[in-house]
Amino acid sequence: MTIHGGKLMASGLDAATDVSRRAPNVSEQPVGWSPERSAQRYQITGWGSPYFQVNARGQVEVTPNPDRQQCINLYDLTLELRARGLELPLLIRFSDIVGDRIRRLNEAFGKAITEYEYPGTYRGVFPVKVNQQRHLVEEIVRYGRAWNFGLEAGSKPELLIALAAMQDVGGLIICNGYKDQKYIETALVAQKFDKTVIVVLERIEELDIVIKASEKVGIRPFLGVRAKLTTRGVGRWADSAGDRAKFGLTTSEMVEVVDRLSELGMLDCLQLLHFHIGSQISSIIPIKNAMQEASNIYVELAKMGAKMGYLDVGGGLAVDYDGSKTDFHASKNYQLEEYAADVVSHVQAACAKADVPVPTLVSESGRAIAAHHSVLVLEVVGQSQVRFGEPVEPRPDAHRLLKELFETYGGIQPKNVQESYHDASQAKEEAQSLFKYGYLSLRERAQVERLFWNCCEKIHQTLKRLKFVPEELQHLDKNLSAIYYCNFSLFQSAPDIWAIDHLFPIMPIHRLDEEPTVSATLADLTCDSDGMIDHFIDVEDVKSTLAVHTLSDTESYFLGMFLNGAYQEILGDLHNLFGDTNAIHVELTDNGYQIGHVIKGDSISDVLRYVEYQPENMVEAVRRQAERAVSQGRITNEQMRTLLQHYEESLRSYTYLTED
Ligand SMILES: *Cc1c(COP(=O)(O)O)cnc(C)c1O
Repeated sequence: MTIHGGKLMASGLDAATDVSRRAPNVSEQPVGWSPERSAQRYQITGWGSPYFQVNARGQVEVTPNPDRQQCINLYDLTLELRARGLELPLLIRFSDIVGDRIRRLNEAFGKAITEYEYPGTYRGVFPVKVNQQRHLVEEIVRYGRAWNFGLEAGSKPELLIALAAMQDVGGLIICNGYKDQKYIETALVAQKFDKTVIVVLERIEELDIVIKASEKVGIRPFLGVRAKLTTRGVGRWADSAGDRAKFGLTTSEMVEVVDRLSELGMLDCLQLLHFHIGSQISSIIPIKNAMQEASNIYVELAKMGAKMGYLDVGGGLAVDYDGSKTDFHASKNYQLEEYAADVVSHVQAACAKADVPVPTLVSESGRAIAAHHSVLVLEVVGQSQVRFGEPVEPRPDAHRLLKELFETYGGIQPKNVQESYHDASQAKEEAQSLFKYGYLSLRERAQVERLFWNCCEKIHQTLKRLKFVPEELQHLDKNLSAIYYCNFSLFQSAPDIWAIDHLFPIMPIHRLDEEPTVSATLADLTCDSDGMIDHFIDVEDVKSTLAVHTLSDTESYFLGMFLNGAYQEILGDLHNLFGDTNAIHVELTDNGYQIGHVIKGDSISDVLRYVEYQPENMVEAVRRQAERAVSQGRITNEQMRTLLQHYEESLRSYTYLTED
């Protein structure tokens, strides 16, 4: 097992640790199961608190607004939505969670500002790129109003969204990203609305465009610069900072901007310093370092005569996807309060030292605001599991190998698991070479292989009684696991799992009062072998399988993929032409909850049109072929009608598997 960051190295399977704590090396099966044990198994408190928990009936419950003790049973909600004809996969957005995230962020900064007696204010912005869905952006503007929360645009289309969505007097809009003259002219004119629109220079070349645009429209710009810090983030996005970063100005470029603006008598236009050292910064250390570096740049710019007034610390505030509270890439080793305190205190100290007035603090936290609010509910639609049956004792005249292997099987014990595994593996290899040279029949080879897997299964069971699992045996868990097929597309709904091995917490949303006895990997509906999930969160490391329940013939089995409200929706693609899923907004009311918006997912016609097909022409093409087959007596009228009916109904239907 690998060691990631500061995470502890695994010392055993989690089942093994559980059992050994209760009765060391004695009982094989944990006695009794409870919703509490499920909560532990899936670490829901770590990543889900205060929004998600397991109730006494063994179902996942959502508390969208922790200030109000109203819970929504996710399992019941799923059944209810399905009864209304909203098919799975379903993306459920809890609007109140977004509100709570915004509140917490603002309160954390508010608290730090009071604590440090910081004589300035905090005004966050939501980076629209994290999730551009209109209903969500509108909710963010609505919930954020109490704190003058603004929006950040990273492109021209996003600026257009921000201008339409942010109508508040004084509303803050930060313009980042590559800009052309139209982008800048639009932003400049919008500065004359009653809101604050700040154009951030991301590249030195943009200065000339701004000056030209400003002359053309006759409006002085409200400018910021993005600094290329030497402080790097950690993990995947470490390259967002440093000399080779895509965006940002080097120190000499910033000095050049100051000099140019000074020559033009425009130094009062430069009012903001921005930096962004990457997303999901799992350790507080680079944040502290970046704050120190940026605070000093801010102070220097002010001393050089720039008007200043705003320091924008970018995004990067991480989400604890695995609940481990470590600096592992899927986690974070600091709390919101610590983050805010670090931002406030570093700026405070630098400004005090240089006797420069403190800036208004801006942060562009996207992931931390949007991740928690949406849950993807999937249905398991099938499974495949290697089954070997009970081991069969070889007959007295059976091949020597079979008899030896059966003996190995019988002798497997905690103290000799490794030795037994070596013996079994050797027997399997020997069988393969004997077969190659014609000394073993196909049937005998099959018997050896079956017995080999019986040994593996018994070894795997025996390992559960051990505290320490030898490294070479750790793969058994995955090799013996089942594959659960789920009705969704990874590429559409959780593309980061495929693209960057991202970890989202995944767990059953019901039956949590039953022990999950099956280890499974998950497969999606695409015919792509990458459409698999075989990395799952774990307290100590990453697990290759997920604990799940046996499937029932009578009851659907639902899994929830949590914390996927940031980035996934827009990065999702149409691989195999699986389209947008159905999405639902759920809002708390005084005495319960209501379904706010229902956004129907794509139909097959919709996705076909994306790739330039005309469904009407397709029906026509198929109809003509069917006519010919009827006229030549190859199919009946009845068969033709069945085909055309299915064809036309399918065009109108959801792209995922549906119940008829
Ligand atoms: C992506 C991005 C963000 C958002 O980062 P999070 O880690 O999601 O908070 C903020 N600012 C800029 C400039 C970005 O590119």
